[in-house]
Amino acid sequence: MQRKTYNIRITGLVQGVGFRPFVYRIAKKLNLCGNVDNRNDGVFVKLNGNPEEIEEFVNQVRNLAPEAAVIEKIDVKENSFVNFNDFRIVKSDNNHITDEITEISPDIAVCEACLEDMKIQKHRINYPFINCTNCGPRFTIIKELPYDRKNTTMSPFDMCDKCSQEYKDVADRRFHAQPVACNHCGPHYSFVSGNKKIEDLNLLLETASALIEAGGTIALKGMGGYTLVCDAGNENAVAKLRNSKHRDGKPLAVLFRHINILKKYAYVNRSEEALLTSWRRPIVILKTKKSLAKSVSAGFSTVGALLPYMPFHYLLFEKTKCDALVFTSANIAGEPIIIENEKAVELFNNKIEAIITYNREIYNRADDSLAFAVNGIPRLIRRSRGYAPSPVRLGFDVDGILATGAELVNTFCIGRTSQAILSQHIGDLKNAETLDFFEESISRYKKLFKFSPKAVACDFHPDYLSTQYAREQNLPTLKIQHHHAHMAACMAENRLAGPVIGIIFDGTGLGTDGNIWGGEFFSGDFSNFKRHSHFDYIPLPGGDKVTKEPWRTAVSYLYSVFGKEFFNLKIPFVENLNPEKTEFIISMIDKKVNSPLSSSAGRLFDAVSAILNICTVSSFHAEAPMRLEDAISNFETTEYYNFSTGKTLDFKCTVKEIVDDIKKNIETRIISAKFHNTIVRVSVNTAITIRKETGINKVVLSGGTFQNGYLCKATEQKLKQEGFEVFVHQKVPSNDAGISLGQLAVAAYRLNVKNDNNDEIG
Ligand code: ZN
Ligand code: ZN
Ligand code: FE
Repeated sequence: MQRKTYNIRITGLVQGVGFRPFVYRIAKKLNLCGNVDNRNDGVFVKLNGNPEEIEEFVNQVRNLAPEAAVIEKIDVKENSFVNFNDFRIVKSDNNHITDEITEISPDIAVCEACLEDMKIQKHRINYPFINCTNCGPRFTIIKELPYDRKNTTMSPFDMCDKCSQEYKDVADRRFHAQPVACNHCGPHYSFVSGNKKIEDLNLLLETASALIEAGGTIALKGMGGYTLVCDAGNENAVAKLRNSKHRDGKPLAVLFRHINILKKYAYVNRSEEALLTSWRRPIVILKTKKSLAKSVSAGFSTVGALLPYMPFHYLLFEKTKCDALVFTSANIAGEPIIIENEKAVELFNNKIEAIITYNREIYNRADDSLAFAVNGIPRLIRRSRGYAPSPVRLGFDVDGILATGAELVNTFCIGRTSQAILSQHIGDLKNAETLDFFEESISRYKKLFKFSPKAVACDFHPDYLSTQYAREQNLPTLKIQHHHAHMAACMAENRLAGPVIGIIFDGTGLGTDGNIWGGEFFSGDFSNFKRHSHFDYIPLPGGDKVTKEPWRTAVSYLYSVFGKEFFNLKIPFVENLNPEKTEFIISMIDKKVNSPLSSSAGRLFDAVSAILNICTVSSFHAEAPMRLEDAISNFETTEYYNFSTGKTLDFKCTVKEIVDDIKKNIETRIISAKFHNTIVRVSVNTAITIRKETGINKVVLSGGTFQNGYLCKATEQKLKQEGFEVFVHQKVPSNDAGISLGQLAVAAYRLNVKNDNNDEIG
């Protein structure tokens, strides 16, 4: 057969993950001649061979790709014959620069091979920045594309001869590993404590370990920002750390020495272990088996655990006796995680024992990501280090759209071709520093991804700072209802075009009727939605204040059920109320003063949490519903409370029966489980009603309330039992961090960007 030359273009996440050496090895193995080069729009391979050989090559590339690589597409084109005598990696051909961009890899946890090298390679003995094409920092150090060393914060470091040899050697694992470095030429750590400074790594590690073992707190510069570290087994140390951070009552994450040690402290199932040990290394919320220092978990029966992901973490565990270290982002509450060395010193030098820093800049800030697993499915709560800026691949064009997201737990999202590129976790925009971070990141993404927006999508709420930012861009602006965006986000990541039934439960979002929504049953698609049913409206006396003071919503519910008679209820919550304050709240409701109407699911959970006296005033976002769920602590029951259905879903009955149970001294865990079951039942019943009306059988679940493990587990199972096809979030959080993806998808449809209207897109 006549031999041909084939041009093969591979797109996806194929840069910065060791892809060309991998292609080289496959070609060599199959005895194929040709070459491979990197361009801004993909990896290009030219190969001589017959169709069977090419097919085998493509199969192997697909099936054996490096762990962190994501192959989106492999295009093969037959071309006229060019003679190649061997296979080579060739220099990038700059004539082919196009508008398209390759993906930027997220940061990757240090690999096993590098950990071994760290003990045997002479120039890298205990080198805390060891990395290779399969591992190391990526997104946090990149300033510009293409991903070359000069475009990263490694640029001030000149490679020594040894490193440069490895960098140039195709057969080496460090071939074109941009952050390649060693003890002679790379960045190094230093230890700062008052006026004391230590540069010697061994001494530094010993001193740090001694401080930690003695109960001290250390600020440690990590991959995407500073973290505060102390002995998680020492209550005084943890209390002191909390103090230096002005930390609310939020649980703290814990870095464990090893998965086997971690398993002594927490229950770990298979999907949780896969998450914990993946190269993304998120913090994973696990059920506690054996307690650490009491204030680590702040009264919760769970622990946010993660495993070492930087070489330094491993080196530190070699020195210290502690098996578990508190590992929490160093920031002032509400502000973004600290990345600047000067700021860390300024903020912490006198408050904690020491700062461990290094002399390479973190360019893109990235918090540790946060995940949990339910029904065997990994789910994200915070999508940042290890995940951003990986795109969510959509089956339709979203190019040129900027979606500015929600206001709390903000992320933004840019559309490039059919990819939705979500930012790392930004935070609460009401904080001035966070708003700066938001604006700075948008301009960086524009540069990094060669993105110039032609339209902006934002929330329907005119006062969100993300909406204000959108307005200021002087571009066509599309306002998208909050819960429609939630529904669309879940559709988009599951590649559904609709129509779907959307069950959207969250804390707050402005509805089209001017009320606050959040317990919503929709049907619809990207372009539109119909609101079939919702939780009954309840006044929220004090407006925004209710999120911090769940007792207000509890009073509102009790008042709606019992009228003023509720003052006579013999339950601890009512008995502990301040009568004057409560009277005042009631008069606000009566006079409709600062008491917006809300159908929020989050607020109902708040109210029940308060009525049960679990959490009446919350010290961090969503504390009341989180503690309400935690109270169930593995209790199992199929019982539930009554509720009434009609145009709206009315929980007066539910609240009344809960109060009856409290009066009967029924255990809190039973009441909480019954309440959760009630919400599951409401969801399933309402979905069935909508299915009867519309014939739609696909259900998407979204909104922050679905971070409730009990709720999502039971709702998904029960819906499936009723024959529904159920779709949930895996790629983006179900909370407001996923909103920007939904906004992007809806905007793309509204702008009538070309799309194929199949049931399943893609
Ligand atoms: Zn490595
Ligand atoms: Zn070197
Ligand atoms: Fe929301």
